[in-house]
Amino acid sequence: MKVSFSADRMVNEFMEQVQAKHSHEKEFLQAVHEVAKYVLPYEMSKPEYRDAKVLWRLIEPDRAIIFRVVWYDDKGNVQVNRGYRVQWTNALGPYKGGLRFHPSVNLSVIKFLAFEQTFKNSLTGLPLGAAKGGSDFNPQGRSEDEIRRFCQAFMLELHKHIGEGFDVPAGDIGVGQREIGFMYGTLVKLRGYEPGAFTGKTLELGGSHLRPEATGYGLIYFAQEMLRYNLGDDMSGKTAVVSGAGNVAQFAAEKLIQLGVRVLTMSDSTGFVYIPDGLTIEQLEFIKQLKSKRGTSLRQFAEKFGLTFYEGKKPWSVPADMAFPCATQNELDGDDAKELVKNGCKLVAEGANMPSTPEAISIFLENGVLFGPGKAANAGGVAVSGLEMAQNAQRIQWTREEVDNKLREIMRNIHEQAVEFGKEGNTINYIRGANIAGYDRVARAFVNLGVI
Ligand code: NDP
Repeated sequence: MKVSFSADRMVNEFMEQVQAKHSHEKEFLQAVHEVAKYVLPYEMSKPEYRDAKVLWRLIEPDRAIIFRVVWYDDKGNVQVNRGYRVQWTNALGPYKGGLRFHPSVNLSVIKFLAFEQTFKNSLTGLPLGAAKGGSDFNPQGRSEDEIRRFCQAFMLELHKHIGEGFDVPAGDIGVGQREIGFMYGTLVKLRGYEPGAFTGKTLELGGSHLRPEATGYGLIYFAQEMLRYNLGDDMSGKTAVVSGAGNVAQFAAEKLIQLGVRVLTMSDSTGFVYIPDGLTIEQLEFIKQLKSKRGTSLRQFAEKFGLTFYEGKKPWSVPADMAFPCATQNELDGDDAKELVKNGCKLVAEGANMPSTPEAISIFLENGVLFGPGKAANAGGVAVSGLEMAQNAQRIQWTREEVDNKLREIMRNIHEQAVEFGKEGNTINYIRGANIAGYDRVARAFVNLGVI
Protein backbone atom coordinates (compact mmCIF):
# COMPACT_ATOMS: atom_id res chain seq x y z
CA MET A 1 0.00 0.00 0.00
CA LYS A 2 1.23 3.51 -0.72
CA VAL A 3 0.73 5.26 2.61
CA SER A 4 0.68 9.04 2.61
CA PHE A 5 3.46 10.98 4.31
CA SER A 6 1.30 11.86 7.32
CA ALA A 7 0.08 8.26 7.71
CA ASP A 8 3.71 7.17 7.50
CA ARG A 9 4.67 9.63 10.20
CA MET A 10 1.78 8.59 12.40
CA VAL A 11 2.80 4.93 12.15
CA ASN A 12 6.46 5.78 12.84
CA GLU A 13 5.54 7.78 15.93
CA PHE A 14 3.31 4.94 17.14
CA MET A 15 6.09 2.43 16.56
CA GLU A 16 8.66 4.57 18.39
CA GLN A 17 6.48 4.41 21.49
CA VAL A 18 5.84 0.70 21.12
CA GLN A 19 9.55 0.11 20.56
CA ALA A 20 10.47 2.01 23.72
CA LYS A 21 8.34 -0.39 25.74
CA HIS A 22 9.20 -3.63 23.97
CA SER A 23 12.74 -3.04 22.72
CA HIS A 24 13.87 -6.67 23.18
CA GLU A 25 10.89 -8.24 21.46
CA LYS A 26 11.89 -8.16 17.81
CA GLU A 27 9.36 -10.64 16.42
CA PHE A 28 6.56 -8.94 18.33
CA LEU A 29 7.64 -5.49 17.08
CA GLN A 30 7.77 -6.82 13.50
CA ALA A 31 4.22 -8.17 13.78
CA VAL A 32 2.87 -4.97 15.35
CA HIS A 33 4.51 -2.82 12.66
CA GLU A 34 2.98 -4.89 9.84
CA VAL A 35 -0.45 -4.45 11.41
CA ALA A 36 -0.08 -0.79 12.40
CA LYS A 37 0.91 0.22 8.84
CA TYR A 38 -2.58 -0.61 7.66
CA VAL A 39 -4.73 -0.50 10.77
CA LEU A 40 -3.61 2.74 12.40
CA PRO A 41 -4.66 4.99 9.47
CA TYR A 42 -7.96 3.07 9.35
CA GLU A 43 -8.48 3.49 13.10
CA MET A 44 -7.83 7.23 12.81
CA SER A 45 -10.57 7.45 10.20
CA LYS A 46 -13.10 5.91 12.61
CA PRO A 47 -13.72 8.22 15.59
CA GLU A 48 -15.40 5.43 17.56
CA TYR A 49 -12.32 3.22 17.36
CA ARG A 50 -9.85 6.08 17.64
CA ASP A 51 -11.43 7.40 20.86
CA ALA A 52 -11.53 3.89 22.32
CA LYS A 53 -7.76 3.55 21.56
CA VAL A 54 -8.41 0.09 20.17
CA LEU A 55 -4.95 -0.50 18.69
CA TRP A 56 -3.24 0.67 21.88
CA ARG A 57 -5.36 -1.81 23.80
CA LEU A 58 -4.73 -4.52 21.23
CA ILE A 59 -0.95 -4.42 21.64
CA GLU A 60 -1.25 -5.41 25.31
CA PRO A 61 -2.29 -8.98 26.16
CA ASP A 62 -4.94 -9.67 28.79
CA ARG A 63 -2.12 -11.49 30.59
CA ALA A 64 1.13 -13.40 30.04
CA ILE A 65 1.82 -16.46 32.18
CA ILE A 66 5.40 -17.74 32.45
CA PHE A 67 6.24 -20.86 34.40
CA ARG A 68 8.93 -23.41 35.24
CA VAL A 69 8.69 -26.93 33.82
CA VAL A 70 10.84 -29.55 35.56
CA TRP A 71 11.10 -33.14 34.36
CA TYR A 72 13.44 -36.17 34.26
CA ASP A 73 15.19 -37.20 31.04
CA ASP A 74 15.88 -40.87 30.20
CA LYS A 75 19.23 -40.77 32.01
CA GLY A 76 17.56 -39.69 35.23
CA ASN A 77 18.83 -36.11 34.98
CA VAL A 78 16.60 -33.21 35.98
CA GLN A 79 15.76 -30.92 33.06
CA VAL A 80 14.36 -27.41 33.41
CA ASN A 81 12.39 -25.57 30.71
CA ARG A 82 10.29 -22.45 30.59
CA GLY A 83 6.57 -22.58 29.74
CA TYR A 84 4.37 -19.79 28.39
CA ARG A 85 0.72 -19.02 27.88
CA VAL A 86 -0.09 -15.55 26.61
CA GLN A 87 -3.84 -14.88 26.70
CA TRP A 88 -4.28 -11.99 24.30
CA THR A 89 -8.00 -11.23 24.25
CA ASN A 90 -11.28 -13.02 24.93
CA ALA A 91 -13.43 -10.28 23.42
CA LEU A 92 -14.75 -12.56 20.65
CA GLY A 93 -14.69 -15.89 22.46
CA PRO A 94 -12.53 -18.14 24.66
CA TYR A 95 -8.77 -17.68 24.38
CA LYS A 96 -7.67 -19.86 21.47
CA GLY A 97 -4.31 -20.65 19.90
CA GLY A 98 -1.69 -23.36 19.70
CA LEU A 99 1.26 -24.50 21.78
CA ARG A 100 4.74 -24.48 20.25
CA PHE A 101 7.63 -26.61 21.50
CA HIS A 102 10.84 -25.34 19.92
CA PRO A 103 14.17 -24.07 21.31
CA SER A 104 13.57 -20.67 19.65
CA VAL A 105 10.46 -20.05 21.80
CA ASN A 106 10.67 -16.95 23.98
CA LEU A 107 8.23 -14.29 25.14
CA SER A 108 8.63 -12.23 21.97
CA VAL A 109 7.82 -15.20 19.72
CA ILE A 110 4.77 -16.20 21.77
CA LYS A 111 3.54 -12.59 21.89
CA PHE A 112 3.87 -12.15 18.13
CA LEU A 113 1.98 -15.39 17.56
CA ALA A 114 -0.80 -14.49 20.01
CA PHE A 115 -1.12 -11.00 18.53
CA GLU A 116 -1.39 -12.41 14.99
CA GLN A 117 -3.85 -15.00 16.24
CA THR A 118 -6.19 -12.19 17.29
CA PHE A 119 -6.74 -11.04 13.69
CA LYS A 120 -6.74 -14.55 12.28
CA ASN A 121 -9.36 -15.84 14.69
CA SER A 122 -11.49 -12.78 14.07
CA LEU A 123 -11.35 -13.41 10.31
CA THR A 124 -12.83 -16.89 10.70
CA GLY A 125 -16.10 -15.30 11.84
CA LEU A 126 -16.28 -17.85 14.69
CA PRO A 127 -16.52 -17.01 18.41
CA LEU A 128 -12.79 -17.31 19.08
CA GLY A 129 -10.55 -15.15 21.25
CA ALA A 130 -6.79 -15.39 20.91
CA ALA A 131 -3.83 -16.85 22.78
CA LYS A 132 -0.59 -18.71 22.17
CA GLY A 133 1.75 -20.70 24.33
CA GLY A 134 4.54 -23.22 24.39
CA SER A 135 7.99 -23.90 25.67
CA ASP A 136 11.66 -23.72 24.73
CA PHE A 137 11.68 -27.52 25.07
CA ASN A 138 13.32 -29.15 22.03
CA PRO A 139 11.56 -32.39 21.05
CA GLN A 140 14.25 -33.20 18.44
CA GLY A 141 16.03 -36.38 19.40
CA ARG A 142 13.92 -36.92 22.52
CA SER A 143 12.41 -40.35 23.18
CA GLU A 144 8.65 -40.81 23.36
CA ASP A 145 8.96 -41.34 27.13
CA GLU A 146 10.78 -38.04 27.50
CA ILE A 147 8.18 -36.20 25.40
CA ARG A 148 5.38 -37.68 27.50
CA ARG A 149 7.09 -36.76 30.77
CA PHE A 150 7.68 -33.24 29.51
CA CYS A 151 4.04 -32.86 28.40
CA GLN A 152 2.82 -34.07 31.79
CA ALA A 153 5.12 -31.67 33.66
CA PHE A 154 4.07 -28.81 31.38
CA MET A 155 0.40 -29.54 32.09
CA LEU A 156 0.87 -29.63 35.87
CA GLU A 157 1.02 -25.85 35.63
CA LEU A 158 -0.85 -25.07 32.40
CA HIS A 159 -4.03 -26.85 33.51
CA LYS A 160 -4.60 -24.09 36.08
CA HIS A 161 -4.99 -21.55 33.30
CA ILE A 162 -7.05 -23.30 30.63
CA GLY A 163 -10.46 -24.92 30.29
CA GLU A 164 -13.53 -25.37 28.12
CA GLY A 165 -15.12 -21.99 27.40
CA PHE A 166 -12.10 -20.20 28.90
CA ASP A 167 -8.85 -21.02 27.10
CA VAL A 168 -8.55 -23.84 24.58
CA PRO A 169 -5.01 -24.68 23.33
CA ALA A 170 -4.12 -26.71 20.20
CA GLY A 171 -0.89 -27.74 18.43
CA ASP A 172 1.76 -25.81 16.54
CA ILE A 173 5.44 -26.47 15.74
CA GLY A 174 6.59 -29.52 17.71
CA VAL A 175 3.10 -30.27 18.99
CA GLY A 176 0.96 -32.75 17.04
CA GLN A 177 -1.81 -35.17 17.97
CA ARG A 178 0.54 -37.30 20.06
CA GLU A 179 1.59 -34.39 22.29
CA ILE A 180 -2.01 -33.11 22.49
CA GLY A 181 -2.98 -36.63 23.66
CA PHE A 182 -0.34 -36.58 26.42
CA MET A 183 -1.36 -33.09 27.58
CA TYR A 184 -5.09 -33.72 27.40
CA GLY A 185 -4.50 -37.04 29.22
CA THR A 186 -2.85 -35.17 32.08
CA LEU A 187 -5.76 -32.73 32.22
CA VAL A 188 -8.27 -35.60 32.32
CA LYS A 189 -6.31 -37.21 35.17
CA LEU A 190 -6.25 -33.95 37.13
CA ARG A 191 -9.73 -32.67 36.40
CA GLY A 192 -11.84 -35.31 34.63
CA TYR A 193 -13.39 -35.53 31.18
CA GLU A 194 -13.30 -32.16 29.44
CA PRO A 195 -12.84 -32.55 25.68
CA GLY A 196 -13.64 -28.88 25.12
CA ALA A 197 -10.39 -27.89 26.84
CA PHE A 198 -8.16 -28.87 23.87
CA THR A 199 -8.50 -29.04 20.11
CA GLY A 200 -6.39 -31.09 17.72
CA LYS A 201 -7.31 -34.27 19.60
CA THR A 202 -7.54 -37.66 17.91
CA LEU A 203 -11.04 -38.76 16.86
CA GLU A 204 -11.46 -41.14 19.82
CA LEU A 205 -10.71 -38.33 22.25
CA GLY A 206 -13.36 -36.11 20.66
CA GLY A 207 -11.30 -34.59 17.87
CA SER A 208 -12.70 -33.36 14.58
CA HIS A 209 -12.32 -34.98 11.22
CA LEU A 210 -9.92 -33.01 9.05
CA ARG A 211 -8.24 -31.08 11.89
CA PRO A 212 -4.75 -32.39 10.95
CA GLU A 213 -5.38 -31.48 7.31
CA ALA A 214 -7.14 -28.17 7.99
CA THR A 215 -4.30 -25.63 7.87
CA GLY A 216 -2.70 -27.08 4.73
CA TYR A 217 -5.97 -27.72 2.90
CA GLY A 218 -7.34 -24.32 3.94
CA LEU A 219 -4.19 -22.64 2.64
CA ILE A 220 -4.69 -24.15 -0.78
CA TYR A 221 -8.44 -23.33 -0.79
CA PHE A 222 -7.48 -19.73 -0.06
CA ALA A 223 -4.87 -19.73 -2.86
CA GLN A 224 -7.48 -21.17 -5.24
CA GLU A 225 -9.72 -18.19 -4.44
CA MET A 226 -6.84 -15.79 -5.06
CA LEU A 227 -6.10 -17.33 -8.45
CA ARG A 228 -9.74 -17.42 -9.46
CA TYR A 229 -10.55 -13.88 -8.34
CA ASN A 230 -7.48 -12.14 -9.73
CA LEU A 231 -6.50 -14.19 -12.75
CA GLY A 232 -9.60 -16.23 -13.58
CA ASP A 233 -7.26 -19.21 -13.33
CA ASP A 234 -7.06 -22.52 -11.46
CA MET A 235 -4.34 -24.72 -10.00
CA SER A 236 -4.25 -27.54 -12.49
CA GLY A 237 -0.94 -27.93 -14.37
CA LYS A 238 0.94 -25.39 -12.27
CA THR A 239 4.15 -25.87 -10.31
CA ALA A 240 4.75 -25.04 -6.64
CA VAL A 241 7.60 -24.80 -4.18
CA VAL A 242 6.67 -25.73 -0.61
CA SER A 243 8.85 -25.28 2.46
CA GLY A 244 8.55 -27.34 5.62
CA ALA A 245 7.77 -31.03 5.97
CA GLY A 246 5.55 -30.89 9.05
CA ASN A 247 1.81 -30.76 9.54
CA VAL A 248 1.04 -27.70 7.42
CA ALA A 249 3.48 -28.50 4.59
CA GLN A 250 2.36 -32.14 4.31
CA PHE A 251 -1.31 -31.35 3.86
CA ALA A 252 -0.70 -28.32 1.66
CA ALA A 253 1.34 -30.61 -0.60
CA GLU A 254 -1.37 -33.30 -0.48
CA LYS A 255 -4.08 -30.88 -1.59
CA LEU A 256 -1.83 -29.45 -4.31
CA ILE A 257 -1.19 -32.95 -5.68
CA GLN A 258 -4.95 -33.67 -5.64
CA LEU A 259 -5.48 -30.51 -7.70
CA GLY A 260 -2.92 -31.50 -10.33
CA VAL A 261 -0.08 -29.25 -9.17
CA ARG A 262 3.54 -30.40 -9.48
CA VAL A 263 5.11 -29.94 -6.00
CA LEU A 264 8.81 -29.42 -6.68
CA THR A 265 10.24 -29.08 -3.18
CA MET A 266 9.79 -29.89 0.50
CA SER A 267 12.18 -28.72 3.21
CA ASP A 268 13.03 -29.03 6.89
CA SER A 269 15.49 -27.56 9.35
CA THR A 270 18.34 -29.48 7.65
CA GLY A 271 17.77 -28.40 4.02
CA PHE A 272 15.47 -28.97 1.04
CA VAL A 273 14.81 -31.72 -1.45
CA TYR A 274 14.20 -31.05 -5.17
CA ILE A 275 11.63 -33.28 -6.86
CA PRO A 276 11.78 -32.39 -10.59
CA ASP A 277 8.85 -34.64 -11.61
CA GLY A 278 6.67 -33.48 -8.73
CA LEU A 279 6.01 -35.14 -5.39
CA THR A 280 3.82 -38.25 -5.57
CA ILE A 281 1.31 -39.42 -2.96
CA GLU A 282 3.54 -42.44 -2.29
CA GLN A 283 6.52 -40.16 -1.62
CA LEU A 284 4.38 -37.93 0.58
CA GLU A 285 3.34 -40.95 2.65
CA PHE A 286 7.02 -41.71 3.17
CA ILE A 287 7.60 -38.13 4.39
CA LYS A 288 4.62 -38.38 6.77
CA GLN A 289 6.05 -41.58 8.28
CA LEU A 290 9.56 -40.15 8.45
CA LYS A 291 8.44 -36.93 10.13
CA SER A 292 6.26 -38.74 12.65
CA LYS A 293 9.63 -39.34 14.37
CA ARG A 294 11.12 -36.08 15.59
CA GLY A 295 14.71 -35.32 14.65
CA THR A 296 14.67 -36.99 11.24
CA SER A 297 16.01 -35.33 8.07
CA LEU A 298 14.58 -35.15 4.54
CA ARG A 299 18.01 -36.36 3.45
CA GLN A 300 16.69 -39.87 4.19
CA PHE A 301 13.75 -39.21 1.85
CA ALA A 302 16.04 -37.91 -0.89
CA GLU A 303 18.31 -40.95 -0.59
CA LYS A 304 15.39 -43.39 -0.70
CA PHE A 305 13.96 -41.89 -3.93
CA GLY A 306 17.26 -40.92 -5.65
CA LEU A 307 16.57 -37.16 -5.37
CA THR A 308 18.97 -34.29 -4.75
CA PHE A 309 19.13 -32.91 -1.22
CA TYR A 310 20.45 -29.39 -0.66
CA GLU A 311 21.96 -29.31 2.82
CA GLY A 312 21.23 -26.18 4.83
CA LYS A 313 19.54 -24.47 1.85
CA LYS A 314 16.07 -23.00 1.36
CA PRO A 315 13.90 -23.94 -1.64
CA TRP A 316 13.15 -20.46 -3.01
CA SER A 317 15.66 -20.60 -5.88
CA VAL A 318 13.68 -23.34 -7.63
CA PRO A 319 11.52 -21.77 -10.42
CA ALA A 320 7.79 -22.30 -9.88
CA ASP A 321 4.41 -20.63 -10.49
CA MET A 322 3.51 -20.55 -6.79
CA ALA A 323 5.31 -20.59 -3.44
CA PHE A 324 3.97 -21.81 -0.09
CA PRO A 325 6.21 -21.11 2.91
CA CYS A 326 5.00 -23.58 5.56
CA ALA A 327 7.93 -23.92 8.01
CA THR A 328 8.56 -20.99 10.35
CA GLN A 329 8.83 -17.22 10.83
CA ASN A 330 11.20 -15.15 8.67
CA GLU A 331 12.21 -18.11 6.49
CA LEU A 332 11.76 -16.13 3.26
CA ASP A 333 13.83 -12.92 3.05
CA GLY A 334 14.35 -10.15 0.50
CA ASP A 335 16.90 -12.10 -1.57
CA ASP A 336 14.61 -15.12 -1.66
CA ALA A 337 11.71 -12.90 -2.79
CA LYS A 338 13.83 -11.40 -5.61
CA GLU A 339 14.73 -14.89 -6.74
CA LEU A 340 11.08 -15.98 -6.79
CA VAL A 341 10.05 -12.86 -8.73
CA LYS A 342 12.91 -13.32 -11.20
CA ASN A 343 11.76 -16.88 -11.83
CA GLY A 344 8.20 -15.82 -12.61
CA CYS A 345 6.41 -16.78 -9.40
CA LYS A 346 2.84 -15.39 -9.51
CA LEU A 347 1.43 -16.27 -6.12
CA VAL A 348 2.80 -16.61 -2.60
CA ALA A 349 0.52 -17.79 0.21
CA GLU A 350 1.79 -18.22 3.76
CA GLY A 351 1.09 -21.52 5.52
CA ALA A 352 3.45 -20.58 8.35
CA ASN A 353 3.04 -17.57 10.62
CA MET A 354 5.03 -14.54 9.42
CA PRO A 355 7.40 -16.57 7.20
CA SER A 356 8.10 -13.61 4.88
CA THR A 357 10.25 -10.74 6.13
CA PRO A 358 8.93 -7.16 5.62
CA GLU A 359 11.47 -6.70 2.82
CA ALA A 360 10.24 -9.83 1.05
CA ILE A 361 6.63 -8.63 1.31
CA SER A 362 7.51 -5.24 -0.21
CA ILE A 363 9.22 -6.98 -3.13
CA PHE A 364 6.16 -9.14 -3.77
CA LEU A 365 3.80 -6.17 -3.67
CA GLU A 366 6.01 -3.98 -5.88
CA ASN A 367 6.21 -6.74 -8.46
CA GLY A 368 2.53 -7.60 -8.59
CA VAL A 369 2.91 -11.05 -7.02
CA LEU A 370 -0.39 -12.12 -5.42
CA PHE A 371 0.46 -12.33 -1.73
CA GLY A 372 -1.74 -14.12 0.84
CA PRO A 373 -0.60 -13.32 4.41
CA GLY A 374 -0.65 -16.09 7.00
CA LYS A 375 -3.33 -14.57 9.19
CA ALA A 376 -5.79 -15.09 6.35
CA ALA A 377 -4.25 -17.94 4.35
CA ASN A 378 -3.47 -20.30 7.25
CA ALA A 379 -6.63 -19.63 9.27
CA GLY A 380 -8.10 -23.00 8.25
CA GLY A 381 -6.43 -24.73 11.20
CA VAL A 382 -7.98 -22.59 13.87
CA ALA A 383 -11.26 -22.55 11.94
CA VAL A 384 -11.53 -26.34 12.20
CA SER A 385 -10.46 -26.06 15.84
CA GLY A 386 -13.48 -23.77 16.24
CA LEU A 387 -15.60 -26.46 14.56
CA GLU A 388 -14.10 -29.06 16.92
CA MET A 389 -15.20 -26.91 19.89
CA ALA A 390 -18.70 -26.69 18.42
CA GLN A 391 -18.86 -30.48 18.00
CA ASN A 392 -17.57 -31.06 21.55
CA ALA A 393 -20.17 -28.69 22.97
CA GLN A 394 -22.93 -30.61 21.17
CA ARG A 395 -21.39 -34.05 21.87
CA ILE A 396 -21.49 -34.94 18.18
CA GLN A 397 -18.98 -35.60 15.41
CA TRP A 398 -19.55 -34.29 11.90
CA THR A 399 -18.41 -36.29 8.88
CA ARG A 400 -15.25 -35.50 6.96
CA GLU A 401 -17.33 -34.10 4.10
CA GLU A 402 -19.30 -31.83 6.41
CA VAL A 403 -16.14 -30.42 7.94
CA ASP A 404 -14.48 -30.04 4.54
CA ASN A 405 -17.47 -28.11 3.19
CA LYS A 406 -17.49 -25.82 6.21
CA LEU A 407 -13.72 -25.27 5.89
CA ARG A 408 -14.05 -24.33 2.20
CA GLU A 409 -16.88 -21.97 3.05
CA ILE A 410 -14.87 -20.29 5.82
CA MET A 411 -11.81 -19.85 3.57
CA ARG A 412 -14.03 -18.39 0.82
CA ASN A 413 -15.50 -16.03 3.35
CA ILE A 414 -12.09 -14.93 4.65
CA HIS A 415 -11.05 -14.28 1.05
CA GLU A 416 -14.17 -12.17 0.47
CA GLN A 417 -13.48 -10.07 3.56
CA ALA A 418 -9.84 -9.57 2.54
CA VAL A 419 -10.98 -8.47 -0.92
CA GLU A 420 -13.59 -6.11 0.52
CA PHE A 421 -11.08 -4.28 2.71
CA GLY A 422 -8.03 -4.78 0.47
CA LYS A 423 -9.02 -3.03 -2.75
CA GLU A 424 -6.31 -0.67 -4.04
CA GLY A 425 -7.35 0.55 -7.48
CA ASN A 426 -7.62 -2.54 -9.65
CA THR A 427 -5.59 -4.73 -7.37
CA ILE A 428 -6.12 -6.44 -4.05
CA ASN A 429 -3.66 -5.94 -1.23
CA TYR A 430 -4.48 -8.97 0.88
CA ILE A 431 -2.33 -7.81 3.80
CA ARG A 432 -4.29 -4.62 4.07
CA GLY A 433 -7.57 -6.50 3.61
CA ALA A 434 -6.83 -9.22 6.17
CA ASN A 435 -5.50 -6.83 8.79
CA ILE A 436 -8.36 -4.36 8.53
CA ALA A 437 -11.11 -6.98 8.26
CA GLY A 438 -9.68 -8.90 11.24
CA TYR A 439 -9.23 -5.71 13.23
CA ASP A 440 -12.68 -4.34 12.46
CA ARG A 441 -14.57 -7.21 14.13
CA VAL A 442 -12.38 -7.09 17.25
CA ALA A 443 -12.64 -3.29 17.36
CA ARG A 444 -16.44 -3.43 17.32
CA ALA A 445 -16.35 -5.95 20.17
CA PHE A 446 -13.91 -3.78 22.16
CA VAL A 447 -16.13 -0.72 21.75
CA ASN A 448 -19.23 -2.68 22.76
CA LEU A 449 -17.53 -4.11 25.85
CA GLY A 450 -16.68 -0.66 27.16
CA VAL A 451 -13.36 0.49 28.56
CA ILE A 452 -12.15 -2.68 30.32
P1 NDP B 1 5.56 -28.91 12.49
O1 NDP B 1 6.38 -29.00 13.73
O2 NDP B 1 4.64 -30.01 12.15
O3 NDP B 1 6.53 -28.66 11.24
C1 NDP B 1 7.41 -27.60 11.18
C2 NDP B 1 8.30 -27.78 9.98
O4 NDP B 1 9.12 -26.60 9.83
C3 NDP B 1 9.26 -28.95 10.11
O5 NDP B 1 9.45 -29.52 8.85
C4 NDP B 1 10.54 -28.30 10.62
O6 NDP B 1 11.71 -29.00 10.29
C5 NDP B 1 10.49 -26.98 9.87
N1 NDP B 1 11.25 -25.95 10.57
C6 NDP B 1 11.09 -25.54 11.85
N2 NDP B 1 11.97 -24.58 12.14
C7 NDP B 1 12.69 -24.37 11.01
C8 NDP B 1 13.75 -23.50 10.66
N3 NDP B 1 14.24 -22.64 11.56
N4 NDP B 1 14.23 -23.56 9.40
C9 NDP B 1 13.72 -24.43 8.50
N5 NDP B 1 12.71 -25.27 8.77
C10 NDP B 1 12.22 -25.25 10.00
O7 NDP B 1 4.77 -27.50 12.58
P2 NDP B 1 3.49 -27.03 11.77
O8 NDP B 1 3.52 -27.59 10.40
O9 NDP B 1 2.30 -27.24 12.63
O10 NDP B 1 3.73 -25.44 11.73
C11 NDP B 1 4.46 -24.82 10.67
C12 NDP B 1 4.10 -23.34 10.63
O11 NDP B 1 2.70 -23.19 10.41
C13 NDP B 1 4.39 -22.56 11.91
O12 NDP B 1 4.73 -21.23 11.57
C14 NDP B 1 3.04 -22.55 12.62
O13 NDP B 1 2.92 -21.48 13.54
C15 NDP B 1 2.13 -22.38 11.42
N6 NDP B 1 0.75 -22.76 11.64
C16 NDP B 1 0.43 -24.03 12.07
C17 NDP B 1 -0.89 -24.38 12.25
C18 NDP B 1 -1.29 -25.77 12.60
O14 NDP B 1 -2.49 -26.04 12.58
N7 NDP B 1 -0.37 -26.69 12.89
C19 NDP B 1 -1.97 -23.40 12.09
C20 NDP B 1 -1.54 -22.12 11.52
C21 NDP B 1 -0.21 -21.84 11.35
P3 NDP B 1 12.12 -30.35 11.09
O15 NDP B 1 11.22 -31.41 10.53
O16 NDP B 1 13.57 -30.55 10.73
O17 NDP B 1 11.88 -30.09 12.53
